[in-house]
Amino acid sequence: MDSYIVRLSDTLITHDSRILLEHSDVRALGLNADDAVDLGLCSNGRRVRLLTTTPEFEVTGAYGTRTLRDLLRSAPEADFRCAARAVHLAHWDTTHQYCGSCGGKTERMAAEHARKCLSCGAVVYPRISPAIIVAVIRDGKLLLAHNARRAHGFYSVIAGFVDPGETLEECVAREVREETAVEVQNIRYMSSQPWPFPDSLMIAFICEYRSGEIEVDGSEIDHAYWCDPDNLPEVPPRPSVARSLIDWFVAHHADL
Ligand SMILES: [Zn+2]
Repeated sequence: MDSYIVRLSDTLITHDSRILLEHSDVRALGLNADDAVDLGLCSNGRRVRLLTTTPEFEVTGAYGTRTLRDLLRSAPEADFRCAARAVHLAHWDTTHQYCGSCGGKTERMAAEHARKCLSCGAVVYPRISPAIIVAVIRDGKLLLAHNARRAHGFYSVIAGFVDPGETLEECVAREVREETAVEVQNIRYMSSQPWPFPDSLMIAFICEYRSGEIEVDGSEIDHAYWCDPDNLPEVPPRPSVARSLIDWFVAHHADL
């Protein structure tokens, strides 16, 4: 049976904290299931359809709303992944209503996740922005940095967007060099995580220190240091990929 995800501005409508709604929920909300966009099969194997309400829509009764960031922490992972896919595609749909080549109106294509320009025929696909995130290890210690633009006190591992023409390994080496002046070696892939805030794919690596001493740029990173596994500062919450890397380091530091 199809599941429905219903968007209300920057939130998703929930029923008893469930985000994958049934056809009966769509009826109870007074929405028309025929307006739903088919998102295809989700990571949980269910076919998911997306409905978008008007911003004025009033949520009542047993229904509530949650943001995607809320759901990251509270929803079962498979449900969150469905919601992430829905929000990522919806954001792309909203921001690609007009053609980047000629300015003409675009429309969704039926057979695939793509939009076609009604004037020049150009086809655009959902934007996915790859970003690396990396645990750099030196003598059993982990390189942690504080982002100068964030008010919170979190320290995290180094991350950054991939540049055009760059391999993932080159991106890892460049981001660590730019943010801390440290050179790395032996870069190994760890895992990946869709990160729809709004359209990233985080690709996680581990690597070893090669040379250099920490020197932060002051604008992006205002402090960085080699952290002992027994004395972690405040770090990002689970289940972020940053936290997975930090947890992995704590579990394996004795072998590094
Ligand atoms: Zn066009």
